[in-house]
Amino acid sequence: MAGTVALVVAAGRGERFGADVPKQYTLLAGRPLLRHSLSAFAAHPGIGAVRAVIRSDDRDHYDRAVEGLTLLDPVPGGASRQESVREGLESLEILTPERVLIHDGARPLLPGGVIDRVLAALDEMPGAIAALPVADTLKRSEQGRIVGTVAREGLWRAQTPQGFHYPAILDAHRKAATGSELTDDAAVAEAAGLAVRLVEGAAENIKVTTPGDLAQAEALLAGGAALLAETRTGSGFDVHRFAPGDHVNLCGLRIPHERALLGHSDADVGLHALTDAVLGALSAGDIGLHFPPSDPRWRGADSGQFLAYARDLVTAHKGRIINVDITLICEAPKLAPHRDAMIERVAELLRIGTERVSVKATTTEGLGFTGRGEGIAAQATATLSLPRGG
Ligand code: MG
Repeated sequence: MAGTVALVVAAGRGERFGADVPKQYTLLAGRPLLRHSLSAFAAHPGIGAVRAVIRSDDRDHYDRAVEGLTLLDPVPGGASRQESVREGLESLEILTPERVLIHDGARPLLPGGVIDRVLAALDEMPGAIAALPVADTLKRSEQGRIVGTVAREGLWRAQTPQGFHYPAILDAHRKAATGSELTDDAAVAEAAGLAVRLVEGAAENIKVTTPGDLAQAEALLAGGAALLAETRTGSGFDVHRFAPGDHVNLCGLRIPHERALLGHSDADVGLHALTDAVLGALSAGDIGLHFPPSDPRWRGADSGQFLAYARDLVTAHKGRIINVDITLICEAPKLAPHRDAMIERVAELLRIGTERVSVKATTTEGLGFTGRGEGIAAQATATLSLPRGG
């Protein structure tokens, strides 16, 4: 069976948090806090199975939070953290794991490296916990007044995960069951005389207790995302000439006009410029490279499919479109009445919100080929977020 099981404890009430939704299920970067914690273990190759200990009342929140993750069924916790851990440990007995890593569900930003270090130490010791050395000077106070300075040498701040050889920690918890409340599992292990090693934790492995902690976790995640992603911009330009006809296609819309635009496809100059902008941001050539005009398949083609292709290419690069901006240049037809519909169509094609799409129209004051009514020009920019080095 699973050699190492992660037990994630999320059965507390989070009374210091004061939100409508229980703290463990509050959203952090769009995902429930507990999902972040569980995912860290579910994604780690050294962990065979993951089980959460939850409040029975929270079952609906839990089911929604973990959708799509492969986890053992959760078990209900007890009145205290120590009791909840013991319940969780007892539930694992049937699985006979060799080792267990116990983690606070409210520590959502657990780096895989910390799990690695705890696992490595367990090869040599029955217990190992993540911790950080105390850097601040410590004061002892009475009624708000300093009565002494505590030497910080040899002092550590305990984090989780705390890992143990499973039979040893189960036994320690059973023995501690009737004793006074212990605030972490290392204390339970110590009480049972188990040797526990300290391994380096991580500064970002914070415990979310207050709304301020949640804001800090958001900032840490956003900072990490900024380090992992980069922003790229591309531009596109296109012109099609007028020919006899009764409508033009612009930004995916059929707009009645006394002339048509000439082109191999549907001659949607706006979508062509935009497709080139998206391809440009990917450094992926231009529309002619991907859809050669010499290919009869694109005769009269709906240009929406060219843009959809570029959109899918962004997804294939694990990127996303931040915003696009299109300028259509012509004297006629008048485009203002169609602006909102064009924005909606482009947003639909790109599968992004309309607030990320801009469509503008201008004339050239009667000057040049657009001024003489010989055709329509369009230019576009597209801004993407792409994984760094991708
Ligand atoms: Mg074109």
